[in-house]
Amino acid sequence: MIMRYPALIVDKAKIQHNTRLLVNKCDELGIGVAAVTKVFCGNPEIAQAMVDGGAYMLADSRIENLRRLRHFNIPRMLLRIPMKSQVGEVIEYADISLNSEADTIREISEAALKKNTIHKIILMTDLGDLREGVWNENLLEFVGEIAELKGVHLAGLGTNLTCYGGVIPDKDNLGRLAELAVEIENRYGIQLEYISGGNSSSLHLVFSKDMPRRINQLRLGESIVLGLETAYGQRIEGTYRDAFTFAAEIVEIKDKPSAPVGNIGMDAFGRKPVFVDKGKRKRGILAAGREDIDISCIIPRDSCIGLIGASSDHLLVDFTDCSRTYRVGDVVEFDVTYGGLLAASTSEYVTKVII
Ligand SMILES: *Cc1c(COP(=O)(O)O)cnc(C)c1O
Repeated sequence: MIMRYPALIVDKAKIQHNTRLLVNKCDELGIGVAAVTKVFCGNPEIAQAMVDGGAYMLADSRIENLRRLRHFNIPRMLLRIPMKSQVGEVIEYADISLNSEADTIREISEAALKKNTIHKIILMTDLGDLREGVWNENLLEFVGEIAELKGVHLAGLGTNLTCYGGVIPDKDNLGRLAELAVEIENRYGIQLEYISGGNSSSLHLVFSKDMPRRINQLRLGESIVLGLETAYGQRIEGTYRDAFTFAAEIVEIKDKPSAPVGNIGMDAFGRKPVFVDKGKRKRGILAAGREDIDISCIIPRDSCIGLIGASSDHLLVDFTDCSRTYRVGDVVEFDVTYGGLLAASTSEYVTKVII
């Protein structure tokens, strides 16, 4: 097979393995895993690996991605608070959505009634991270505003932590989520199906078995795709870190000085570059650049390789410390960070290969 580079190579079996491991751990505490597909743009083949690994729901922040997943027969959940302008598509492509605005929920209800359906919502409450959600002190009152709507069913309560404010999920804030759920149930005489306790940064409470009991759902992305726990940035034991590979081809190798020769002005991005003179080095150019990836988001698998810099289409690397000989035409492989995965997934220049 002739490969086109740069490429993002995905190992489905490793995604399935990571999902299975996390699903089993969560299952011990009665927690279901909504597998998050946004970082690979809702690719159905990779999503299938998550389903094969035991995910009971698929979740994405973009309706375009959920549309790609419309053939799956497990529930699909919209993660980002819906745009009013997309209410019709929300009802069509999502079974459940996370919500925080009464007006939008009202419009969803009306649109659902017109289509003779009932749309499920999980109400988001902000427990301090300052991204989405009704401020926790105003929650009960807010539920009153939407309780009577006929086209939506209040299926649960959720929160998101760490993503913006860096707030770490703990027994206190997720305990508060569980408490709020009980208060809503008692006040309005309803049963909440989902208590959605956050993203990969909540997993440490699963591992330490400190998760408040009512929490019965987590929405997991990074932990599945990269095997990383995101509250403390730890590797999750038993998972693969290398399910995704970024690969780029060498187009030039030359021995050159490490500091440019001549008067230094602005680089291609308007910055004045600074150089450390390390003498002559074996420098390589890979055919990839900022149109494909951010250089701070890739880690060479072969640790002898140094990253020097990147312009739009050229990635400069240092082979001087390598004992093996790299040649023009060889392919260099990298691990990716979450940001790197996002960049490679969304660049149309990066070939997606699923193995
Ligand atoms: C992206 C997202 C997630 C998944 O986060 P990870 O850190 O990748 O596990 C969960 N919930 C919401 C609302 C999100 O936007």
